[in-house]
Amino acid sequence: MTNIAKTIACVHCSKSFIIEVDEVRYKRWCDGLGFIQDELPELESWERELLLSATCDECWKEMFPPLPPTDEDEDE
Ligand SMILES: [Zn+2]
Repeated sequence: MTNIAKTIACVHCSKSFIIEVDEVRYKRWCDGLGFIQDELPELESWERELLLSATCDECWKEMFPPLPPTDEDEDE
């Protein structure tokens, strides 16, 4: 098992992140032989997101903020 370090820059804020992945399984994913969550389950979800869409955790949260609480329960 060989780990390689991938440097990925977020397309939104240009910050660079280094993600270590297993070379063989990373290549399998690149070749479309497996889903990223199956090939690289040890990565944090934000790391997989970075590989998938080059969007870092911070920018992701900015684009998709948690839903604000609704007033629905208070309807009369
Ligand atoms: Zn970013």
